[in-house]
Amino acid sequence: MTAVRIDGKELALKVRAEVAEDVRAFGQPVCLATLLVGDDPASHVYVGSKHKASHEAGIDSRDHRFPSETPETEILELVADLNADDSVDGILVQLPLPDHMDEPTVLRAVDPDKDVDGFHVLNAGRLYLGEPFLVPATPLGIMAMLDEYDVELKGKDAVVIGRSEIVGKPMAMLLLAEHATVTICHSRTVDLATHTRRADILVAAVGREGLVTPDMVKPGATVVDVAMNRTAEGKLVGDVDPAVFEVAGLMTPVPGGVGPMTIAMLLRNTLTAAQHRRSQVAVGGS
Ligand code: NAP
Repeated sequence: MTAVRIDGKELALKVRAEVAEDVRAFGQPVCLATLLVGDDPASHVYVGSKHKASHEAGIDSRDHRFPSETPETEILELVADLNADDSVDGILVQLPLPDHMDEPTVLRAVDPDKDVDGFHVLNAGRLYLGEPFLVPATPLGIMAMLDEYDVELKGKDAVVIGRSEIVGKPMAMLLLAEHATVTICHSRTVDLATHTRRADILVAAVGREGLVTPDMVKPGATVVDVAMNRTAEGKLVGDVDPAVFEVAGLMTPVPGGVGPMTIAMLLRNTLTAAQHRRSQVAVGGS
């Protein structure tokens, strides 16, 4: 068996075109502000891509970049200003922040209504309670891919490897909401393969090249590889051995799978935040 390749690049283009159309129909300016602290080259590339994608979708963007030694108080002041600025709909704090900053403190300072990354404790709680509002873009993009490829979730065994706040936990919540039977694996899981072999849907979000090998995958399973690992030669690879393509039924490639969908869903979240806030302003003002 050779798995069908889940084309995240193509679906992301479709979602981005839909968001652009919806932004036009919305008829009001939509604005995303990003904050980047430090000189991590990958973060600068990611933020640049987010601005380019915003521009293409008709979303205005503001780009705030700071040197790594910037005090946390300065960042918190900017977050407070952006929270209060009615023309800003979405605020994205690019991670990682430098070591002298406390990431939860900065993320929790963002107005939950403008929290387009869905990392705020209130948005995490809404997802947990089955009332999702702004959901982290990576798992949201994965759900859109599973839907596009008609992957049945109800009653299926889903295994998520990784339990981060950004990917693993929200991924598990979204799969659970669709009535999958969900197992979350992590670094202390004993005998990972016994879990993964049961999975109808396997999501790998660890950051370790070659973690998932063909013998760990149920034939015909849907395999989603979230990871973005750099080899010594600078090549981008996932957690899943490419040989798994010969066992799985559907599988995302790296690159060209989950990555492009993340940016597309960030744009979708930014429009959702704008629509939500402006409808509240309209209600409040009537
Ligand atoms: P993270 O915060 O470092 O979390 C990694 C998770 O993997 C942790 O829960 C850890 O367990 C678990 N883990 C580590 N070693 C393991 C092992 N041997 N077996 C099973 N589980 C193990 O990473 P993240 O932010 O979730 O990101 C995961 C990967 O996805 C990274 O490669 C990242 O670059 C990529 N990513 C991609 C996108 C995208 O758009 N494509 C977006 C976000 C992240 P413990 O909790 O026990 O430590």
